[in-house]
Amino acid sequence: MPKINITDVILRDAHQSLFATRMRTEDMLPICPKLDAIGYWSLECWGGATFDACVRFLKEDPWERLCKLREALPNTRLQMLLRGQNLLGYRHYSDDVVRAFVRRSAENGMDVFRIFDALNDPRNLKTAIEATKAAGKHAQGTICYTVSPVHDVAGFVKLGKELASMGCDSIAIKDMAGLLTPFVTADLVKALKDSLDLPLHLHSHATSGLADMCHLKAIENGCDTIDTAISSMAGGTSHPPTESLVAALRGTEYDTGLDLEAIQEVGMYFYQVRKKYHQFESEFTGVDTRVQTNQVPGGMISNLANQLKEQNALDRMGAVLEEIPRVRKDLGYPPLVTPTSQIVGTQAVLNVLTEKRYQTITNEVKLYLQGRYGAAPAAVNPTLQQQAIGMEDLIDCRPADLLKPELDRLTKEIGTIAASDEDVLTYAMFPEIGRTFLEQRAAGTLVPEPLEPPPSGMAKSAPTEFNINVHGETYHIKVTGAGHKDQAERHFYFTIDDIPEEVVVETLDELVLTGGADGAVRKAIAGKRPKPSLPGHVSTSMPGNIVDVLVREGDRVTAGQSVIVTEAMKMETEIQAPIDGTVTGVFVAKGDSVNPDEVLLEISP
Ligand code: MN
Repeated sequence: MPKINITDVILRDAHQSLFATRMRTEDMLPICPKLDAIGYWSLECWGGATFDACVRFLKEDPWERLCKLREALPNTRLQMLLRGQNLLGYRHYSDDVVRAFVRRSAENGMDVFRIFDALNDPRNLKTAIEATKAAGKHAQGTICYTVSPVHDVAGFVKLGKELASMGCDSIAIKDMAGLLTPFVTADLVKALKDSLDLPLHLHSHATSGLADMCHLKAIENGCDTIDTAISSMAGGTSHPPTESLVAALRGTEYDTGLDLEAIQEVGMYFYQVRKKYHQFESEFTGVDTRVQTNQVPGGMISNLANQLKEQNALDRMGAVLEEIPRVRKDLGYPPLVTPTSQIVGTQAVLNVLTEKRYQTITNEVKLYLQGRYGAAPAAVNPTLQQQAIGMEDLIDCRPADLLKPELDRLTKEIGTIAASDEDVLTYAMFPEIGRTFLEQRAAGTLVPEPLEPPPSGMAKSAPTEFNINVHGETYHIKVTGAGHKDQAERHFYFTIDDIPEEVVVETLDELVLTGGADGAVRKAIAGKRPKPSLPGHVSTSMPGNIVDVLVREGDRVTAGQSVIVTEAMKMETEIQAPIDGTVTGVFVAKGDSVNPDEVLLEISP
């Protein structure tokens, strides 16, 4: 009987797609008994972005979240998304780290490992699949679906066969951008089911409004398990609603057997939870068919939107979306999924915000062009490759073959601040923020980023009419309006004894601002550095953090020499000296947040 199984992504992809992966464990646990009783094939609950957001913003230990979910969901398989050799980080790890990570995840309760590689290079899945099998867990090989002149059904079937031969227990089609169309889905699913003797899972985003239709076509052609999200966190860049699919299949040969009313009850719970995170909701929540032409996944759009919003450049979104396919072509048509989505997205943003395309090239693009992320699906742009890396250091082996074991080194590096192997792995995934997290935890100073209360007007958050007493005089103040909260310089309009006045409040306290402590601090600091005005002023093209300052005051530098390394959107960029001269001012240090309108470094001729 072809009963359809459901994987619900409510605890991972739904909030990742809709509100920047900010759902906290405290909002998951209360509903777990009800979720556990539904009878899902699995609950997706862990992945790179959830891990990252826990450590970076929520100041939660992601391993502790896993343990708590395991305890609260004793009857349901827990599923995670693993980026092959990248694990949950943004670089290739040595095989010993991959094995340790998979083993620890399994020991802490993970059942199903959905393993993918952004380039669909099976060599990058090999160790993770082996480690999953060694831990006695379910290894799900993943086909990242994309559209390009070099991708077709035959190629995806070939990849599926290869994953099967590597020992995978099931195969997933991962349509991270909502690119699948119903009739292509039918062909792809049928071709895969005809050539493989493995269960097939479909993961398709609702972005372009086609996923519900794709689900039905997949089911009719033999797909076994469908990923959905509970309705209050479904649709848009998330997934089609669980309840709708359950209702659609009820009483047919495909009946999921799930209790619709029980899921609806869970849905009402998440309807309330979602309100708490309104400040992170993406600008793009409806149907957006542009993915059918630009192939940009939903998560990537909300990341780009947040990044552009931070520097009041949200109006450049259209230009960035047009630039992405050009960069993608130059890089040999990688599917757009972490980390290639960040690599392509950041380079596209740089190409739009700087005056000349590829004037600044991120370090990740350079590594990609060397082959250090694996084999690109098609040939890369040779001119760009020449310009970026001078054709040196090209590799064609499995990238991890060049990596020495590194677990011991990482363990020594982080030292006693790591209380467990899991802590070492946290540090391995995110060296900077992982270390900060572990240090703050040891010092008892972990504080989650502040949440904005639901929009309710000023009256509820602060008094708007009051008397103040200054030097013996009493004034009657009535606040009549306030500028946008997200501005470092906020305008307030009020009357003093009925005479209209205006003040500009320059915010220096992160808690006063919204949009995340990170952005707030960045904005608060913004006023303190000079604005670029001279040819020797070094600035950044994007808001980000300083990873390294490569020169000191008094150093001689030549034009084109790298002087600062910044990190923006998780990508590193080197900033070069604009002129020959001597460094006469250093206004930043490692870890600082910086903005484009600031002088980071001054070079005098
Ligand atoms: Mn997804």
